[in-house]
Amino acid sequence: MAKRKLYDCSKCPGQCCSYARVIVSDFDIKRLGKYFGISEKQAREKHTKAGAEPGERILRHHADEHFGTICKFFDRDLRRCTIYEGRPRICREFPGDGHCGYYDFLTFERTSQEDPDWISTTGNW
Ligand code: SF4
Ligand code: SF4
Repeated sequence: MAKRKLYDCSKCPGQCCSYARVIVSDFDIKRLGKYFGISEKQAREKHTKAGAEPGERILRHHADEHFGTICKFFDRDLRRCTIYEGRPRICREFPGDGHCGYYDFLTFERTSQEDPDWISTTGNW
């Protein structure tokens, strides 16, 4: 039986999309190219950049009012991914087990502070 999902991304400011190091594979880059109708090479240059490890490619970011920077594919007004069908594997798999630590923390603080819009801009979940 599938695990119950214990988080709601529609109520979250998108903290996981602010991770600086969202690693993409060659397959992910190919999928991005297909999604945008451009070549794999163009997708690699336009949407990814070199990561810390040799050969590593990570998604590019743009500025964000809450987290400093966030994935370039994140809509900063609607607070959601704009390339859902074309997103990399790591984004499809996160957070993995039906549970999101950031969402737990957010829910706890919003309840205890009686502020449904409260946002934590820090933390590594
Ligand atoms: S941090 Fe958790 S709740 Fe927020 S968008 Fe990511 S997976 Fe969803
Ligand atoms: S591709 Fe979409 S889901 Fe993945 S980090 Fe970027 S905005 Fe978030």
